Amino acid sequence: MNHHSALPPLPAKADLVVVGAGVVGLAHAVEAQARGCSVVVVDAADRPDGSTARRSGHVAVTTQDSTALACALASRERWLKLGRDAGFGVRESGAVVVAQHEDELAVLDDLVAARAGDATLLDHRSVADRTPVTRAVGGAWLPLDLRLDPPAALAAVSDWLGTRPQVHVAWRTAAQTLDAGSGRTLVRTSRGEVVAKRVVVAVGQDVGSLCWEVGAELTPVRRQLLRVAPPMPDDAAARGRLTTGPVVLGGTTLLRDTAYRHSRALGEVRDRWRRHRPDVLAAEIHLSLQARADGSVVVGDGRAPADVPGRSEAVDGLLLTAAAELLGTGPLTVLGRWTATEPVRARTSPAADPFVLGEPLPGVRTVNVTDGLATTTALGLAPRVLDELF
Ligand SMILES: Cc1cc2nc3c(=O)[nH]c(=O)nc-3n(C[C@H](O)[C@H](O)[C@H](O)COP(=O)(O)OP(=O)(O)OC[C@H]3O[C@@H](n4cnc5c(N)ncnc54)[C@H](O)[C@@H]3O)c2cc1C
Repeated sequence: MNHHSALPPLPAKADLVVVGAGVVGLAHAVEAQARGCSVVVVDAADRPDGSTARRSGHVAVTTQDSTALACALASRERWLKLGRDAGFGVRESGAVVVAQHEDELAVLDDLVAARAGDATLLDHRSVADRTPVTRAVGGAWLPLDLRLDPPAALAAVSDWLGTRPQVHVAWRTAAQTLDAGSGRTLVRTSRGEVVAKRVVVAVGQDVGSLCWEVGAELTPVRRQLLRVAPPMPDDAAARGRLTTGPVVLGGTTLLRDTAYRHSRALGEVRDRWRRHRPDVLAAEIHLSLQARADGSVVVGDGRAPADVPGRSEAVDGLLLTAAAELLGTGPLTVLGRWTATEPVRARTSPAADPFVLGEPLPGVRTVNVTDGLATTTALGLAPRVLDELF
């Protein structure tokens, strides 16, 4: 018996076919149905299991720049509404970036000046009031940032979309080929064909299989994350600030997040790391702490070296040391380790935004979000893509 026979048949046609039900694909489906389009979403997996589902769910609004910032701001409002509509939790947690050196505080000062009202400078006492970090030089409070649980959010959005008129979400359905003809695109899938007015291909790192030109622009990077046991066992108040409080970001995030690139003080921060900890720079440690409801903490992330198969013990060590130093605790107990692969631009350009869009056929767009920003920006990017596509 064909194992697909239990699944309902695909509609023969749709205004929009979305290939891939990660955060990027679902963002386009949500936007298209709100515009009254008929939508078919196909995903090869049998449940939300793409790379989105294995990420930390920080909607990092304030630390973006230019187009990504505009998309992140729009995305924020849409996440809050979607959480209410689809019934999943979106926490207005905010984030605190902790400065452990004066040069980091100078960079944060520049951010606060540039983001009037959306970021506030904190002294060391205010950092300790909001986070478990007691030995900071200071910090910045970013009230717009959100937290969500990606697997739960994706499952809820996919279920909710399935209840919307004219929307069909088909799991276990792989798109195989896209063929142009008479102003339409024929999408051949493992479960039959759909004739689409427009197509969005949002298959993350698999884009090369449907559109090799875009695939060639991207290269997969593996990033390592850890989950550690609730830290500070003797300090319930500090643990509480971590569990219910903001995302806590370390000073190394200044080196990757684009909002800081206009700060003149950033060169000093980079030079200090280069002189004293080139290993931290090489591993692209982007220290972020997000507690789960059970008190355990997800520590992200560092880049796995391309020449080491599996995980790098050295990168795990750098993450654990940086997290323990920030929290002022002894060694942390590791509960889980995993890697998540994401596409980044094969050739980087400092001014580039994180969006890589392709047009393999008329009426078809491939959409990739790089730099770990898909959850942050996708809901704000989708309206722009659809404005241009329809
Ligand atoms: C360590 C790490 C932490 C991160 N943390 C954050 C964060 O806190 N905040 C944030 O904004 N972003 C974060 N990101 C980035 C973000 O989560 C990812 O970039 C994002 O999940 C990519 O989403 P996507 O929809 O493009 O791809 P995916 O989630 O990979 O979805 C692609 C889907 O396409 C399907 N598919 C593939 N091929 C086919 C086909 N032929 N036919 C049908 N379906 C197909 C797959 O099954 C999959 O479900 C992080 C990234 C990393 C690496």
